Order: sequence, then structure tokens, then C-alpha cells
Amino acid sequence: STGWIEVVCGSMFSGKTEELIRRLKRASLAQQKVEIFKPAIDTRYDEEDIVSHNKNSIRSTPVEFARDITLLAQQSEVVGIDEVQFFDEGIVDVAVELADMGKRVIVAGLDMDFQGKPFGPVPALMSVAEFVTKVHAVCMNCGAVANYSYRLSESEQKVVLGEKDAYEARCRKCFNKGMNEK
Ligand code: ADP
Ligand code: MG
Repeated sequence: STGWIEVVCGSMFSGKTEELIRRLKRASLAQQKVEIFKPAIDTRYDEEDIVSHNKNSIRSTPVEFARDITLLAQQSEVVGIDEVQFFDEGIVDVAVELADMGKRVIVAGLDMDFQGKPFGPVPALMSVAEFVTKVHAVCMNCGAVANYSYRLSESEQKVVLGEKDAYEARCRKCFNKGMNEK
């Protein structure tokens, strides 16, 4: 049977992990062999589990390099990858190879960084995917549909791991306005 690639993307708190877990649990219930990976740098809640902001969780394997997934996913029919924006560009070839082997590959990650710029390998993954789903959060400033991750600290680093203290979901207007304006 043929494989394919699905991308689930959006801002922080948009429900990417929730949606990934939902799809993987359904596949698992249908007796499909499912394997889930995440970058080793994402240790916010748990070393092994993937946990969504509503505390739903699923067992996962942390890996350091995109290449590691190719070997570890050989036996599975469905391959899930969370926080995919943190992987090197090699993740695109990995996803394509797995799909070419006949596997269903579901990746979830941020489409934009805190500056509203495309995040790492995610744009390239969206190009090669059969399906792209954008999920949305609720703007913490005005309640509109949020597609941006607004950083509450001054740091200019690309990666600052953190949660509600470090970022909030914002709509286009409130993201552009900045911190203290309503
Ligand atoms: P993501 O993986 O995209 O960061 P999760 O799937 O981990 O998102 O979490 C989504 C959950 O986050 C929602 O179901 C809700 O409980 C919570 N949440 C917190 N802040 C917001 C917000 N501003 N908008 C929507 N959901 C939010
Ligand atoms: Mg997530």
C-alpha cells in the first residue's frame, strides 16, 4: 500500500500535539503499528512521553538527529513526529523515504518562529506533504483566531524553551502591535 505525509502546524497552544495524539491513537486502535518520535531537546514535561497542554499524553522516543528515525521506524506502519521544527533539514528526506516505503507519516510543529518567520524544515515539509492542516489558538489579547507565537521576554535567541511564562498565542493584529498595547 502507498504511504503519505501529513503536516499539522500552527502557533503555540494551537492544539498540534492534541491533534497528533488524536490521529495516532485512532491508528493504534485500528491495530496499526505506531511509533512516535520527538527531538531530544524538547524536555519540557517528560523525557519520554509527548504531552499536550491539556495533559493528554502518548509514549515517544526522543532522538538527537533526524536520521535516527529512519532506522527506528522500520517496523511501523504509522510514524508520528512532534516538535518537528527542531530537527535538522534532513528530516525532509527522512519523511519522504518513510512515505515512499509505504508508511503514513504525521509530523506536527510550529510553522513560524517568534518573529513570524517560517520555522526550520517545516515549510519544506509542507511542500512535500499530501495533507497540510493548520490549527489555531485563541488570541490571549483579544480572543480572535491566533496564528502567531508571541514571545513575552526580550531574548532574541531563536529557541527559548518555555510555556505560558515565555509565550502567548496572538492574532495578526495583536502580534504586530506588541507587548503592552490592547
Ligand atoms: P500545541 O502542541 O500546538 O502547543 P497542545 O495540543 O499542546 O498545543 O495544547 C492545546 C491546548 O492548549 C488547548 O486544548 C487548550 O487546553 C490549551 N490552551 C492554552 N492556551 C490556549 C490558547 N490561547 N488558545 C487555545 N488553547 C489554549
Ligand atoms: Mg505541542
